Amino acid sequence: MEKESVRKKLFRILDTVPALKEIILSSDSIDVKRNKIREFLSQILMATFDDEPTIPPLEWVLSRNAITTFRNILSTRSEKLADYSLLKYIDDLLHKENLKGIEKPSSGFFSEIEHLLRGVMGEAGVYHEKAPAFQKYEGTKAARLRSADLSRMARTAQKFPDRYPCGLDKKVIRKRSINKLRILEYFGATEFEWENWKWHIRNIIRDADTLKSLVKLTNEEYQAVTLAREYKIPFGITPYYLSLMDYEANREKDYAVRAQVIPTTYYVEKMKELREHAEHSMDFMLERDTSPIEGITRRYPSIVTLKPVLTCPQVCVYCQRNWEIEDVYSSNAVISKDKLDKAFQWIADTPEISEVLITGGDPLLLSNNRIENMLFRLSRIKHVERIIIGTRTPVTLPQRITDSLVRDISHFHDPRKREIIIVTHFEHPYEITPQALEAVQKFRRYGMKVYNQLVYTFYNSRKFEAVALRQKLRLIGVTPYYTFNTKGKEETDDFRVPIPRLLQEQKEEARLLPGTVRTDEIVFNVPRLGKNYLRATQHHDIISILPDGRRVYEFHPWEKVTVQVA
Ligand code: SF4
Repeated sequence: MEKESVRKKLFRILDTVPALKEIILSSDSIDVKRNKIREFLSQILMATFDDEPTIPPLEWVLSRNAITTFRNILSTRSEKLADYSLLKYIDDLLHKENLKGIEKPSSGFFSEIEHLLRGVMGEAGVYHEKAPAFQKYEGTKAARLRSADLSRMARTAQKFPDRYPCGLDKKVIRKRSINKLRILEYFGATEFEWENWKWHIRNIIRDADTLKSLVKLTNEEYQAVTLAREYKIPFGITPYYLSLMDYEANREKDYAVRAQVIPTTYYVEKMKELREHAEHSMDFMLERDTSPIEGITRRYPSIVTLKPVLTCPQVCVYCQRNWEIEDVYSSNAVISKDKLDKAFQWIADTPEISEVLITGGDPLLLSNNRIENMLFRLSRIKHVERIIIGTRTPVTLPQRITDSLVRDISHFHDPRKREIIIVTHFEHPYEITPQALEAVQKFRRYGMKVYNQLVYTFYNSRKFEAVALRQKLRLIGVTPYYTFNTKGKEETDDFRVPIPRLLQEQKEEARLLPGTVRTDEIVFNVPRLGKNYLRATQHHDIISILPDGRRVYEFHPWEKVTVQVA
């Protein structure tokens, strides 16, 4: 590591806060430095409350928050929790003669420290422009100037979501008709068969060679799918979902669609490695500790998850239940009648449960009869007021949403007693097609609401990309519900997006949407305890910044235990 260049960078950053630089460069012990910095921070924090702020309001709020965060990072409690001291790390970088054996700070690390200190000093630079002109006027004149400003802002913002292709664009619809014909020709099937969901199930593409005959693949894609089959890692794509992929393998427009189901070699190798180590649990959410009886998961006072089937028509690469799913559309994946009976009895015996989420796997893979039977049995339990069906079939297999299925489900949607809700999982506007729209509308016609859960990943987190999805979802009748940060599973490291990016997306991009469109709540799933609301600052604290630039958070879920995530 280049000692001089690291020090030069740190000096430049510390110049933002000369008093801090002086303390850190002194020959005092770490504990004395810590106390002096805390004292200094307390003084500026007091000043922000005592004096009339001389900095703009947003800078003032940021400064207050940055000081609190910095003080928290410096505390010995945080250091113990994080098992690392940011202060000592910086001190070592500045004072140690030999930096051998000390982790090299990344550019992300410098950037985090720089922004933290600028925040502390009220110099975050959030005000790039001068104050808006309308502030100098009142009445209609002010309103007109303000309106012109807002129109400008809306036009500028809309340019970003407009960059992302949507499956409802005429050009994309045409392209997909061609894809469909190519797939039908390969299978020697008819348009009539295409409309039958069972035909799609029978023809799920399960190997690299079939896939390669239908769309071009990169060498890595081909190799990863081949290895997935070899290692018995669930892989499959419905012909319908395959028709959403572009023929060329450049991932120019269909990156989110391909990434959803075509694994990387890293993923496949990691899955193999993790499976081989029996002591390593892939059950990241620790469902085994929240499952009072087979088929049921309970993490909240009045909600339970019922899992009657552990398979899907295709498996999402980042699926949190990938450890449970044996194969795509596997016949062994349906829970036995006896176990299902016991699960229903458990719900009936637990009067605190008012909401049952039927998920899996994808419960709409079951036959109409089975689905109807489950709903019938739940509808006989008086305290169950809401049944949620979690299904990705509107996205992966919209043909499954037949008139008869929706009619059967709708019999149990009785606004006086109980509602049935559909929660689906669109990841990208490229997945929104006329067929998906029709599937959603069928539920809506019977008065059932359809919500969406988005997993925010590397593949849908570009500027305003989630905004584009929310806008299109509302147009087809889907309400954005949750946006999840990906789970900390090792095999999907390359899907993960830092929590700060998710917070930034909500604060800067989603904020420009009408309230009826930005209805989703951003959440981080804490193992064993469930959803943690990232919007609520009281639910989490930053307790450190690691040399590679990652922040370490401490979460405060509603049932508090100490949980840290870097
Ligand atoms: S649809 Fe849901 S359960 Fe099925 S593979 Fe995807 S994330 Fe997993």
